[in-house]
Amino acid sequence: ATWFSQVEQAPKDPILGITEKFLADTDPSKINLGVGAYRDDNGQPVVLDSVREAERRVAGSHFMEYLPIGGLRDFIQESVKLAYGDSHPVLKEGQVAAVQSLSGTGSCRLFADFQKRFMPGSKVYISEPTWANHFNIWRDAGVAFEKYRYYKPETRGLDFEGLMEDIKNAPSGSVFLLHACAHNPTGVDPSPEQWRAISRAMAERGHFPLFDMAYQGFASGDCDRDAQSIRIFLADGHRLAVSQSYAKNMGLYGQRVGCLSVVCDNQRDASAVESQLKAIARPMYSNPPLHGALLVTKILQDAELKQMWFKEVKGMADRIISMRSLLRQQLETAGSPLSWRHITDQIGMFAYTGMTGDMVDTLAAKHHIYMTRNGRISLAGVNTKNVARLAEAMHAVTK
Ligand code: PMP
Repeated sequence: ATWFSQVEQAPKDPILGITEKFLADTDPSKINLGVGAYRDDNGQPVVLDSVREAERRVAGSHFMEYLPIGGLRDFIQESVKLAYGDSHPVLKEGQVAAVQSLSGTGSCRLFADFQKRFMPGSKVYISEPTWANHFNIWRDAGVAFEKYRYYKPETRGLDFEGLMEDIKNAPSGSVFLLHACAHNPTGVDPSPEQWRAISRAMAERGHFPLFDMAYQGFASGDCDRDAQSIRIFLADGHRLAVSQSYAKNMGLYGQRVGCLSVVCDNQRDASAVESQLKAIARPMYSNPPLHGALLVTKILQDAELKQMWFKEVKGMADRIISMRSLLRQQLETAGSPLSWRHITDQIGMFAYTGMTGDMVDTLAAKHHIYMTRNGRISLAGVNTKNVARLAEAMHAVTK
């Protein structure tokens, strides 16, 4: 007997499991559509020019001392401006508590721990389906969750009626986890009109919105437009929280740089909330990493670099949008009689194709094409070289 002989293997993370299978496949034409990371038209990872320039400016010019528990002040200021709009009243009035976080995952976890402590008895409502890690995050924070309806398989679009009903029926004072834009995994976002209705319904029921914004700029190519859901809720006077990540929109995946902010009634509350967020962070990781925050700050504080970055985000979003059209077109060319309109209707990094788990298994076994078993394609993995082969294989398994 040893200390750990009774420890069982933890279940494999479904997404990382796909990467393993992909790597083990020796076919030269294999395609990985599992990863949620941007790739260029040659299937290669990308470092943005604005980020490379920021790196040059940062190199050799900084100490490597600890950041404060809450992170880099300038970084936080720029981040909340990006989320709420440069001169939003909630910023001018000092109503926003904010800390630098370990990317989007760390922001969500920090909020979940805060919810457990300071919103006692509240549950978190999570869209069905959602990014699978949301469940793990709130489970480990000890917060109970419920699912709300979001996606309608028949239309491959939003289940607006179901969503509105679930908002009305949830106990007053529930936390609703909303994807600010580019919903993962469905690629289905409410229209501005629908966001307004959702905001009003949530205000009536006294729910608290938490926006997970992992893809600002990545949906439409425009950072302001992608934040319009949040701005609509603010205009209705909501108190809310926002989780930001620079993983996708700046390509800073491994730097783990993000921001959690909470809009409060006034400056006193914001200061108290911020102090409690730091009290949660301190025993967990003490303080956040420095390098990525310096890069983001360099870009957002410099008008020229910021413009360069805006263009680059738009470039990534545009490539993905053009791959949607191309994939749909190639499916039609391959002779598929099915409607693939949802591929171009959906937005963001993913297409929720409607293919079943069995179809996905066949794509892997027969065609060396890998994706999650819910039929989600990462469009970042699609390019002009592999799209025809992908379309033919999709047609073959959906015949
Ligand atoms: N939320 C959603 C909806 C996501 O898709 C992701 C990334 N897959 C994240 C949060 C977190 O990403 P990160 O921790 O890398 O910022």
